[in-house]
Amino acid sequence: MTSPDTPRTRPGSPAGPTPADLDLSGIRGWLFDLDGVLTPTAIVHMHAWSRLFTPYLESHGVAPYGEGDYFAYIDGKPRYDGVRSLLESRGIRIPEGDVSDSPDQETVHGLGNRKNDAFNATLADEGVAPYPASLAFLDAVIASGCRVAVVSSSKNAPSVLAAAGIDDRFTVVVDGLVAAREGIAGKPAPDMFDRAAELLGLPTTACAVVEDAESGVKAGADGDFALVVGVDRGVGRDTLHELGADVIVDELDELLPAVARVAERTDSTGTDADLATSAHEDPRRDTAEEGNAE
Ligand SMILES: [Mg+2]
Repeated sequence: MTSPDTPRTRPGSPAGPTPADLDLSGIRGWLFDLDGVLTPTAIVHMHAWSRLFTPYLESHGVAPYGEGDYFAYIDGKPRYDGVRSLLESRGIRIPEGDVSDSPDQETVHGLGNRKNDAFNATLADEGVAPYPASLAFLDAVIASGCRVAVVSSSKNAPSVLAAAGIDDRFTVVVDGLVAAREGIAGKPAPDMFDRAAELLGLPTTACAVVEDAESGVKAGADGDFALVVGVDRGVGRDTLHELGADVIVDELDELLPAVARVAERTDSTGTDADLATSAHEDPRRDTAEEGNAE
């Protein structure tokens, strides 16, 4: 959550441009994380993880489950990796089991499946609406001619997109099921974003990554992308910046003026030839020295 001393007008990074001033002219594709970026499913996930681990850790007599555990060990990771990381933090070792394990079984996969049941029940009960600012931004970049994809560790991405009513915007969805099927490494590896760019028919250098999780921002920063946008839903600006986010926003509509400038330029030339040329340029170039220490 945004602290009171970080007003919306603050630049995205200490040495970087403000979100509204970003040059997006080289960007032809946007790769969106889903949970916490397009939809507030993070809160659904957080509640589901809490319902799993609060009684579980209590029964093991170890330190109780808290919100900080979600950000430190679980957020943005594939489901079973999240289970494994949290258990490791408490020194608990249980068998791995496999994906067919019943939610009742005390295995890494059983606990992961138990969490998934809780998630789906909550989604069915409460539904989910996209963040209004994210929907505005998504529709603006689509209208400007950019291609868009969803890149999510979740294996529930299609059902979340459908529940939010935005599944019609995406022809490319690289989620946990696709990653498992194709043997693609999960975040924090950049491989899922690489695959999404490939499916969009674009070089990674012409694509921007939009992420809210530590593992996702790291994935974007470790890849060869034009831009990594960090959406601060609770990780914190300093952490997102340190992990490699080029610009940090509270809401994606802060980028709308930058999108509008690119659209105007494209309209005035009547062609996107300038976009094709500048796709090989790096928008981070101007600020890389101070704004993106690596
Ligand atoms: Mg996320």
